[in-house]
Amino acid sequence: MDTNNTAHLARWWKSLDDAKVQCGLCPRACRIADGKTGFCGVRKNIGGKLYSLSYGMPVALHVDPIEKKPLAEFLPGTKTFSLGTFGCTLDCSFCQNASLSRGSYTGAAYENYLAPERVVELALDNNCRSVAFTYNEPTVFAEYAIDIAELAHKRDLKTVLVTNGYITEQAAADLYPVIDAANVDMKGFSEEFYRSMTASHLNPVLNAIRYFYELEKHIEITNLVIPGKNDSMDMIDAWLDWVEENLDKKAPLHFSAFFPTHKYYGSPRTPRETLWKIKEHAAERGFTSVYLGNI
Ligand code: SF4
Repeated sequence: MDTNNTAHLARWWKSLDDAKVQCGLCPRACRIADGKTGFCGVRKNIGGKLYSLSYGMPVALHVDPIEKKPLAEFLPGTKTFSLGTFGCTLDCSFCQNASLSRGSYTGAAYENYLAPERVVELALDNNCRSVAFTYNEPTVFAEYAIDIAELAHKRDLKTVLVTNGYITEQAAADLYPVIDAANVDMKGFSEEFYRSMTASHLNPVLNAIRYFYELEKHIEITNLVIPGKNDSMDMIDAWLDWVEENLDKKAPLHFSAFFPTHKYYGSPRTPRETLWKIKEHAAERGFTSVYLGNI
């Protein structure tokens, strides 16, 4: 792919000395030299300007039940037109979609540009009620998601974001208002877990969850439960405390089973009993919408 001809100028960045740029899309704040891409692999400095390589370049397109996102309490029983690109802002050792998150636009197979207008038409043609930005981390294609979302709303389609929540306040202030519903991954309620297992930090994710909730959008949160890493009842309780304090006991929470994959084989598949125990415990604490996934 000739990135100089097809890339789209990025929205959140500033110029530095020596034709370097600094990206302002996620908290990594990558400083990128001319000709290089940032950590996510899909935002590139071309001649001293930052471009999005993923704009208009979905590599996964499917019609899914909305429950598969997972969203249990938003337009239930409907279909959502789902798309994803390459690239991710995190580097989870347990990534369950590494072919997309760590993929890159280097081969000739990914030259088909899909305009935002065409995405909306495809969603309508397939009788979907919403468009979902999903599969990889949609923050990395935020400009594309915003353009699609604005067109989708004009055609009475809702918009869905399935995200890790690793985004700057500035970019979230542009992206989140055009999203109707989100499922945010909270991968483990400790800074140590985020640092060692995802190469990122917990606080920006909590800020993103709180901000989306304060916008009065529909939010559900998923916690992948990894045996021995983030499944202690103390950690789960601390997470439930945070939800109670910052959101609501009615907030839909998903706890899903881990299976060994990508770079992490140090834990077994999550036993069903662990998930049922968490669900029962949350219910005893008064949480009304707890769902289990991958079981
Ligand atoms: S979006 Fe990509 S390039 Fe920008 S700061 Fe995050 S990882 Fe770096």
